[in-house]
Amino acid sequence: MFVSISTTHRPATDLGFLLMKHPDRVHEVELAFGRAVVFFPQAQEARCEAVLILDIDPIGLVRGRGSAEGLLDQYVNDRPYVASSFLSVALNRVFRSAMAGTSRERQDLAAMALPLEIIVTPLPVRGSGDLVRALFEPLGWMVEVERIAGEAGPSRYVRARLAGILRLADALSHLYVLMPVLDDDKHYWIGDDEVEKLLAKGGAWLQTHPKRELVIRRYLKRRGALVRAALARLAPEEVFDGESGRTAGAEDILEAPLRLHDLRIEAVAAALTTAGASAVADLGCGEGKLLARLARDQRFTRLIGLDASMRALERAADRLKIGRIGATRDERISLLHGVLTYRDARWQGVDAAALIEVIEHLDPDRLPALAEVVFGAARPATVIVTTPNADHNVLFPTLAAGAFRHPDHRFEWTRAEMQAWAGTIASRYGYRAVHSGIGDAHPEFGPPTQMAVLTR
Ligand code: SAH
Repeated sequence: MFVSISTTHRPATDLGFLLMKHPDRVHEVELAFGRAVVFFPQAQEARCEAVLILDIDPIGLVRGRGSAEGLLDQYVNDRPYVASSFLSVALNRVFRSAMAGTSRERQDLAAMALPLEIIVTPLPVRGSGDLVRALFEPLGWMVEVERIAGEAGPSRYVRARLAGILRLADALSHLYVLMPVLDDDKHYWIGDDEVEKLLAKGGAWLQTHPKRELVIRRYLKRRGALVRAALARLAPEEVFDGESGRTAGAEDILEAPLRLHDLRIEAVAAALTTAGASAVADLGCGEGKLLARLARDQRFTRLIGLDASMRALERAADRLKIGRIGATRDERISLLHGVLTYRDARWQGVDAAALIEVIEHLDPDRLPALAEVVFGAARPATVIVTTPNADHNVLFPTLAAGAFRHPDHRFEWTRAEMQAWAGTIASRYGYRAVHSGIGDAHPEFGPPTQMAVLTR
């Protein structure tokens, strides 16, 4: 498979500086799955062309997977020979600084839109060849697609030629995200950090792309929770930012890692789905972010938010009522003003309760009362509790030793403390506790947020 990148911006040989590859040499880069070779078929002042050829090692590809299952399929499939997610990974590795929009010698050029021509072949396309146009044209490319003939008529492979005036970094990020989207096969690298990769590479342009949903769905290979997390990040009308009081813009999306609070909401929503809950109480619902998220899913038939703060409830009411223009108030949702340390018949009978970042707001000596109300009296089949992991605090550069993340926190528990508390609850009230983490886990200090799912 082959990608060619050329420019006519004079002196065109500066392309070598942008790609950090000298036009007079052949560059070989070893990758986990094969070898990339970069060379310049043409390097003149008027036009310069760089070509990347990827030589995938089909044996190395399956070696080490530890299973003979599907081995034959892996040997005979087209992966080694076509532009797929392997090529994306290779581009990112081989042209890393160009993709990041930086250049040691030619930073001004890296920041500038240049006349570029890109040829990718053979590019597997699932769907009609028009999809190549539909994906690249909105980004400013002129697109030519030639179907490559197979032995039995036209194949699913095309040769795509893109021409446009764009920043090189943008051009590379378009390829990085959209080649696997066109291919729509299982990705070589799909993992939970894919949302961040997608947003980092595609955030700015993906936000306004007419085929945004298709891109995200295919790129993440229909993995529900990941797709929802990505869409929530990219659909500003649905992204509420209570903490900073503003809506996340393209810049935040490009630069910020996936926000921890969004991850929490997604993790809790996923756990509620796994639990098969349909009636859910969000205890200490705050501004109603979880409720808003759950309301989008029809499997939840009853959603109750309880909070001691009237102000938080007013904001939640705003958020849940507005929805999209023309939407009426969702009958499934009710908001209750109340406290968690007194029994409350209004939210009895739910299948599940969530306590997201709530327990640390209570004085430790009130926790037994909360436990009695939630696990003793209401007794939902599933209770999900999240709270900061104090072990992780040393990793926050601006947090003084021993300080809490929020001035209203009464305590922050280490993982051992959380497990001890959940263990006591489990044995006293007949629940089983399963612990996990939310956010990037440090090998020693663990994830920023800890989550316990208690079931009975
Ligand atoms: N779960 C929400 C809000 C977390 S902030 C979210 O994740 O976005 C903690 C919330 O708990 C606040 O809204 C606070 O008003 C509420 N809270 C604290 N103590 C409470 C209590 N004893 N009873 C009910 N709500 C309480």
